[in-house]
Amino acid sequence: MKDLANSDLFRIFIPEEYEGLGGGCLDLCLVVEELSRVCSSVAISYAATALGSFPLLEYGTEAQKQKYLPAIADGKKLTAFALTEPTAGSDAGAIKTTAERVEGGYIINGTKQFITNGGEAEIYTVIALTDKTRGARGASALLVEKDTPGFSFGKKEKKLGIRASSTRELIFRNCLVPEENLIGKEGLGFIMTLRVFDWTRPGIAAQAVGLAQGALEAAVDYARQRIQFGHPIISQPVVQNMLADMAIELEAARALNYAVARTIDSGAKHFTEESAMAKVFASDMAMKVTTDAVQIFGGAGYMRDYPIEKMMRDAKIIQIYEGTNQILRSTVAFELRKRKAKRE
Ligand SMILES: Cc1cc2nc3c(=O)[nH]c(=O)nc-3n(C[C@H](O)[C@H](O)[C@H](O)COP(=O)(O)OP(=O)(O)OC[C@H]3O[C@@H](n4cnc5c(N)ncnc54)[C@H](O)[C@@H]3O)c2cc1C
Repeated sequence: MKDLANSDLFRIFIPEEYEGLGGGCLDLCLVVEELSRVCSSVAISYAATALGSFPLLEYGTEAQKQKYLPAIADGKKLTAFALTEPTAGSDAGAIKTTAERVEGGYIINGTKQFITNGGEAEIYTVIALTDKTRGARGASALLVEKDTPGFSFGKKEKKLGIRASSTRELIFRNCLVPEENLIGKEGLGFIMTLRVFDWTRPGIAAQAVGLAQGALEAAVDYARQRIQFGHPIISQPVVQNMLADMAIELEAARALNYAVARTIDSGAKHFTEESAMAKVFASDMAMKVTTDAVQIFGGAGYMRDYPIEKMMRDAKIIQIYEGTNQILRSTVAFELRKRKAKRE
């Protein structure tokens, strides 16, 4: 993370007036893709900081932006986005964490689960209920700094993949945050979350594209070197077909993701469906491409001597986080139904 900061990569997604470089969604995707080509964990630690910063970027007050964005741009402060809870995953509207309004601020109580950059980040965007009676419509987004009294960290998860990325529980016990830490308005937390994910899902798709690119390159190198039956295995039509299919699907995912990122950068208002499509297509592609890459390595692919088994393990999570692919297929179907209803 320090090297990324020294390379000014955290400035990419921050506007110039807050010491950033003022890049857009496509710029962010290109960085995530290149990082993920080598290490998906580093890529997601970086991308999660963009996710944690987006509510502030889009809905923050001028004072909040001045206070936090320059330090994020500098890479001095990582951020995290905390929505998921033990009983609220796909059903994010079922969150139970509360932020009770008191004089001068909010008192947060509850537990967040599986939070990327948990423990490492300095700034947390936390989604909590400011009005328990209104369900998801009573949710709000609050900024919580790491050293705030009443805020602590629980279990650090041991994972199948992306092991260099920290995934932790956040525990809030009578944690008082000042009222100026509310992002946007009370009650808009859930709507903001949906919108933020529309923006950030291409970054997750970029993680998949980069990972698959790394796996494809490793598989081609190995197939050129590995001799069986007196020839490199890449001379076998079956292996060539596998590599060709991997490359075709990878390019299709990359093209779709760049198109969606450009749509977002063009200032389009509605891209929920496109953003979900890019994440689903790219992550399913990465799972297949990394699995096929292990197959091309044969027994060696199953061993830890090569990075390819790590790539296959790292691919799985991309089908799960920022909305599982099942949920996102429902999102695409919902948008299609809405569009058809409008036409009628
Ligand atoms: C490594 C890691 C990092 C994460 N980072 C973050 C983070 O930084 N911030 C954060 O807030 N969250 C984070 N998450 C949480 C992640 O977004 C959730 O795990 C994900 O949304 C799924 O929720 P769940 O795990 O509770 O699964 P569930 O919601 O319990 O789903 C279980 C299965 O049921 C399916 N399912 C559930 N409901 C439906 C439905 N209506 N239709 C069809 N299928 C359905 C799902 O697709 C899935 O296959 C992270 C998770 C992991 C594993």
